[in-house]
Amino acid sequence: MVADDEEAVMALCEVCGNDYDKSFEVVAAGKRHTFDSFECAIHLMAPVCEHCGCKVIGHGVEVGGLFYCCAHCARDEHGGAAVSDRA
Ligand SMILES: [Zn+2]
Ligand SMILES: [Zn+2]
Repeated sequence: MVADDEEAVMALCEVCGNDYDKSFEVVAAGKRHTFDSFECAIHLMAPVCEHCGCKVIGHGVEVGGLFYCCAHCARDEHGGAAVSDRA
């Protein structure tokens, strides 16, 4: 039998279910999320560019409530409107 004297509750990554002991928590909009890696955190939390569909993990650009990965994508979607990177 395995001695279970350590009451350490391993936090499970809510994306992949891994119980990595160096998991971390992210609180967003009052909700607590647990991840084992930034890859999983990005998978769940990063907005997706409305133009090219890639994950927005940088500052990104927000135009009219929509997220874009860069000013180039935002401009393409908004007919060349004056959009500049916000960094
Ligand atoms: Zn994970
Ligand atoms: Zn894009």
